Amino acid sequence: MKKFIIIILGLLVLQSCKKGDAENNESGEQAEIIEEKPKIIEEFGFILNNYKVIKDTIRSGESFGEILDRNHVDYAEIYKIAEAAKDTFDIRKLRAGKPYMILAKKDSTEKAQVFIYQPNKVEYLIVDFTDSIQTKFGRKEVKIVTKKASGIIASSLSEAIEKQGLNYILALEMADIYAWTIDFHHLQKGDNFKLIYEEKFINDTVPVGIGNITAAFFEHKNTPIYAFNFVTDSVKKVNDYYDENAKTLRRKFLKAPIKFSRISSRYNLKRRIKYYGNRIRPHRGTDFAAGIGTPIMSTANGTVIESRYRGGNGNYVKIKHNSTYSTQYLHMKKRAVKKGDYVKQGDVIGWVGMTGNTAGPHVCYRFWKNGKQVDPLREKLPSAEPIKESLKSDYFEYIKPLKAEIDQIPSITIEAPLAVN
Ligand SMILES: [Zn+2]
Repeated sequence: MKKFIIIILGLLVLQSCKKGDAENNESGEQAEIIEEKPKIIEEFGFILNNYKVIKDTIRSGESFGEILDRNHVDYAEIYKIAEAAKDTFDIRKLRAGKPYMILAKKDSTEKAQVFIYQPNKVEYLIVDFTDSIQTKFGRKEVKIVTKKASGIIASSLSEAIEKQGLNYILALEMADIYAWTIDFHHLQKGDNFKLIYEEKFINDTVPVGIGNITAAFFEHKNTPIYAFNFVTDSVKKVNDYYDENAKTLRRKFLKAPIKFSRISSRYNLKRRIKYYGNRIRPHRGTDFAAGIGTPIMSTANGTVIESRYRGGNGNYVKIKHNSTYSTQYLHMKKRAVKKGDYVKQGDVIGWVGMTGNTAGPHVCYRFWKNGKQVDPLREKLPSAEPIKESLKSDYFEYIKPLKAEIDQIPSITIEAPLAVN
């Protein structure tokens, strides 16, 4: 009887080490289980089997000291650890919700030896105070896997992406690639896309983000547009998207929002105005003078993100062209578009007026790049040039297999009900 109990105890100990394995060891298979060795689990360079492992997430308001205190490290040592770690990582910057791991002694003291914190899925911080105190950052190995996807639009692109459990970033990237050529707010039922893209993984299974879209295909109103990402300057790492004829998918901005106008005031950060006591009043726009009622055009395709009346701006419209560029048009007599509208280059968005803070009829044209106002007359704006002649044969060689590959991706017909809005 005594012998039997010992075997049972042995089993229990083994089982607790094999945490996570399926519980397939009911009575009758004792011999087999006893022979099985616990699997060696290595993570962050530590053999976890040698420790009592505590995995948790930082709670709101919880400090490094509290965590270590709970894991049997005394305050004098916590202080020393915090001081030693200071140069590598400020322990006050632990963020609630982020995972951490404590490796503690397996003996009865259960004293923490190592603290591992993961500010994001790729990076980790190790504070090892087993003997001396060592702090270091590490990065998990990121593997890039080429993936394929396709979809048919039932109501929106993001829905077609998300219905399939694909990363929503793909929808944003596609919207950017085709920002100058497709109106994503007016997609039609039956529009469809195919993609070849890179996805990043750690530990082979955990997705940590999207890399480049290598090739894309989008059919809008029965017109297919291919997009291939091609490096045009490997030294400067310049790449861009071109179609199957080596034409760029970008479009140039119009030089001016009004036809037959003259510039009455340029972008000038050091402008002085008499009216304001000759003080510097930077002018971050370009003024185009024209008669009241002259049509104002959008200088590129985009989505209206603001259309309203406000203070010195008067009636104004702001248009987002892609994730980099937006333009804004001030002092309109009347606006012709509303927030959410998609406009094409040259579309009339309003008429010249004198609303807001202005001395005469003009449109103040403001140009935004990455959230900052710049001078469009000096800025190097996206060119709409095709690939250089000298690169063309390389390009066609490069896209040949990609085009064949993308053409072979079957269309996925997950039909989602057409959204009513
Ligand atoms: Zn102005």
